[in-house]
Amino acid sequence: MELGFPLAPGATIGILGGGQLGRMLALAAARLGFDVVILTPELDAPASRVARETLIASFDDADALARLADLCDVITYEFEKVPAAAVERLKALGAPVAPNDETLAVAQDRVAEKTFLNAAGVATVAFAEVHDTQSAAAAAALIGVPSLMKTRREGYDGKGQKWVEHVADAAGVFEALGGVPCILEAPADFVRELSVIAARGRDGGLAIYPLAENHHEGGILRRSVAPAPAAPDLAGQAERIAAQILTRLDYVGVIGIELFGLADGRLLANEIAPRVHNTGHWTQDGCEVCQFEQHIRAVAGWPLGPTDARVHVEMINLLGDEAGAWLKLAAEPETRLHLYGKREAKPGRKMGHVNRLSPL
Ligand code: AMP
Repeated sequence: MELGFPLAPGATIGILGGGQLGRMLALAAARLGFDVVILTPELDAPASRVARETLIASFDDADALARLADLCDVITYEFEKVPAAAVERLKALGAPVAPNDETLAVAQDRVAEKTFLNAAGVATVAFAEVHDTQSAAAAAALIGVPSLMKTRREGYDGKGQKWVEHVADAAGVFEALGGVPCILEAPADFVRELSVIAARGRDGGLAIYPLAENHHEGGILRRSVAPAPAAPDLAGQAERIAAQILTRLDYVGVIGIELFGLADGRLLANEIAPRVHNTGHWTQDGCEVCQFEQHIRAVAGWPLGPTDARVHVEMINLLGDEAGAWLKLAAEPETRLHLYGKREAKPGRKMGHVNRLSPL
């Protein structure tokens, strides 16, 4: 265990980002006796309203980063688009940051991510790097069509990606994506999308949750069902994948790993999110220790908690004005309601979620 850990209750945890993930992390931290300071450029952010203090500044504001480093015993983040320079700056100021910067670099670039996964012995779809119109055509010839071109950076919720139907279209698709560096991926012939949420502590201990099965609509997560019906072999594969990734990254904290379940029973990794994950919200009501508490335990150097499912959970995101049904939802005995306190319900915006419980 590194010097200064485990953190005692009363210590202060810094969170980069002020969205709902930061809010739920802050609530979990408070339950364990920690204080939370948020750094976010957003006024009145969901996490700010449950934290001790918020520094409202951009992530590259040197003064704000120095103040955060000064106030906090450990710093974590709730989204993976944190500029690498911000983490470097915090480290240079002597603040421990978890998960580490190598992880951020891997998670911010789809080519680095898949290269890392393969090197860690985790299978992915075949892929090729694209940086100009020639390499776009060459990649399509190599990978075949149809194939999926995605921007290497900044993509989320299905944005920044387009299918290439013919080799001759590849250069045009590259240009339509803005001519920025891209990856071309072979199609994953999946029968379902799954994810595994896992944690690694400062002592190297692992905690791995049961698989969730995920359903997207319009690129946005609609619902997750967990524990996903899965043969023991599939659960074993997911555990091996999580263990390889976490150990290889010398990771501290919770990670979300998105997986494709193929018809032949194999799992391919699609993406890693170095943070708590929407497909892990079911653990709040389904497990002894939820992903948010688990992350706080990990970064604080505490022992990790049990991950067994106590009940079956269907997690449904409340998008846009769906959260307006709070009174009806609150009246359902099997439904646990989680609202993020966002002031404005824009279409597709994640306003909250429900966990619907049923016996295992
Ligand atoms: P991503 O931005 O990588 O999380 O991808 C968003 C969604 O696009 C995934 O949840 C899948 O439904 C789909 N997708 C991503 N990559 C592939 C692929 N290589 N083949 C088929 N579908 C994919």
